[in-house]
Formats: sequence, structure tokens, C-alpha cells
Amino acid sequence: PNNIIINNRDALFGKYEVGRLLGCGAFAKVYHARDVRTGQSVAVKVINKKKLSSSSSTSTSTGLAANIKREISIMSRLHHANIVRLHEVLASKSKIYFVLEFVKGGELFAKVSKGRLSEDLSRHYFRQLISAVGYCHSRGVFHRDLKPENLLLDDAGNLKVSDFGLSAVRDQIRPDGLLHTLCGTPAYVAPEILTKRGYDGAKVDVWSCGVILYVLTAGYLPFNDPNLMALYKKIYKGEFRCPRWMSPDLKRFLHRLLDTNPDTRITIHEILRDPWFKKPNSSSCRREKDPQGQG
Ligand code: ADP
Ligand code: MG
Repeated sequence: PNNIIINNRDALFGKYEVGRLLGCGAFAKVYHARDVRTGQSVAVKVINKKKLSSSSSTSTSTGLAANIKREISIMSRLHHANIVRLHEVLASKSKIYFVLEFVKGGELFAKVSKGRLSEDLSRHYFRQLISAVGYCHSRGVFHRDLKPENLLLDDAGNLKVSDFGLSAVRDQIRPDGLLHTLCGTPAYVAPEILTKRGYDGAKVDVWSCGVILYVLTAGYLPFNDPNLMALYKKIYKGEFRCPRWMSPDLKRFLHRLLDTNPDTRITIHEILRDPWFKKPNSSSCRREKDPQGQG
């Protein structure tokens, strides 16, 4: 793609003024920065090439480079209101800089950690999430690491999906049509990933969306255990309970999303026609997300 410029020298510091640290991920640090020419705010995700190759001794350096190239090509092809835009990629000898759309409102996770959200507000975010995920799936892109930490909010209260580092594109799917890499975050992984028999990227994203919706509306995880094996067992069995305060429509919808059988699990297409998903939001949702009022 033409928005990807790989420079041999460190071009970042003439072009962008790097400011405060916004967050840390598994392999990356994300900083606020300003485009020197336009004054526009951006987020710069810095990946240390050396750190990458030394922290993962089982992977070859070529394998890691392929991962990064994959993240670049995937993100640069996504243009959607609910997906963090990739402006450009710069590289020096030791670092790779992803220049991203700056998302001001922080992580959705921070909001949930203060307490569960109303069903209306949860629906507001969930619809945006499904819009982004449906768009990606129609392009053969699966996120595979959907969780509240990777969902950012802009200052208008819109959700933006970030972190496509673990996505796979359709052309990387094996001839049997299934993805085989074991990845994702334990609490959000679909049961079929745990059996390591191969899985459908679209179906595992739907499962993660179900976990996210549960977390938004309950305020805690549907499957949780300090012991990893016990956690896996709960996920595999699909053992979860809906709290009393949830509406019957929401409970039924969550059971369709968190169906352990990927063949009968609700699809994105069916989600769009679900009664809970389709229900019109009351005005209290707007007030809740914007305490300043609507004017
Ligand atoms: P990793 O791939 O290493 O997990 P992420 O892309 O998830 O890194 O970024 C780590 C953190 O940095 C995020 O959880 C978020 O807090 C912050 N962050 C990432 N991208 C942006 C952005 N575009 N705007 C604002 N903050 C961001
Ligand atoms: Mg992340």
C-alpha cells in the first residue's frame, strides 16, 4: 500500500514530536505524538526489533518479521469508523513505528473496571464492535484477540478496535479452511481453540464478542479462575451464569454468543437480527455516555 513508507534512517523525530506514554502492550509501547507539519495528534506504537527476537527464542527472526509485515498490511487495508486507522509505518534499524489515529478516550476496559454498564450503553458499544468485526470478516480479516483492553474510546464516545497484531488473513488459512495458531487471551478464547483441532476465525471472534458483552453488562468475566487449567475447563464446558439483573433477552442472546459448539453458535448475520441487539436505545444511554448533555 502507498501509505506505508519504510525508511532506513530514523525519520520519526523530524516528522513527529513524541510526547507522553499512552500505554504498554505485550511487545509495544504507545506514545502520544504530534505531526510537526500539521499539528495533528497521533499515537505512535513503537516496536523494538531486538526485543522481539530475544524475547521469543522459539521463533525465528524471519517469522517475527513476517508477523510485523502482516500487521502492517492488515491494518493499512482497514477503513472503518470503528477501527483505529493506520496513517503510516516508519522504521529505523532497531525500531518500527506505527503511526496511528490518536484515540483520546482511553480503553473501554477502564470504564468497565469502574462498574458494569447499563444494557443500553452496552448495546451502543456492542453494535459498534459488531459493525467493525463484521466489516473485518467480510474482508477475510479475523482479529482473534478481541477484549476490552483492545477497545478504545474516542472523545465522542465511539468505540475503536485496536491491536491487529494477532489477526490472520484468509490467504494464510490452511487448505482445510481452519486456523491453527494457539493465540488470544485465556479469559476470552473460544473453547474450540483449546482443543487445538483448528478453528474458524469468524466464530472465535463471535465468542470473544460474547465474553466482552458479558463483561460490559455484568461487570466481571463469565469464565474466571486463578488456575489456568480450571479456567480452560470452565470455558470448554461453557459454564457461566447470568446475574439476576440481566433482561431475559440479554441472557438468551449471551447463551447464543457463548455457545461452545461453533457450528450452532450465532453468526454475525444472525446477531444483526437478534431482538436484544435490535432493541432501540432509550435516551438515558446518551446521557450516561455524555454527562454534559446533548446541548
Ligand atoms: P500491543 O499490541 O503490544 O498489545 P496495543 O496496540 O494494544 O499494543 O497498545 C497498548 C495500549 O496503548 C492500549 O491498550 C492503549 O491503552 C494504548 N493505545 C494503543 N493504541 C492507541 C491509540 N491509537 N490511541 C490512544 N491510545 C492507544
Ligand atoms: Mg494490546
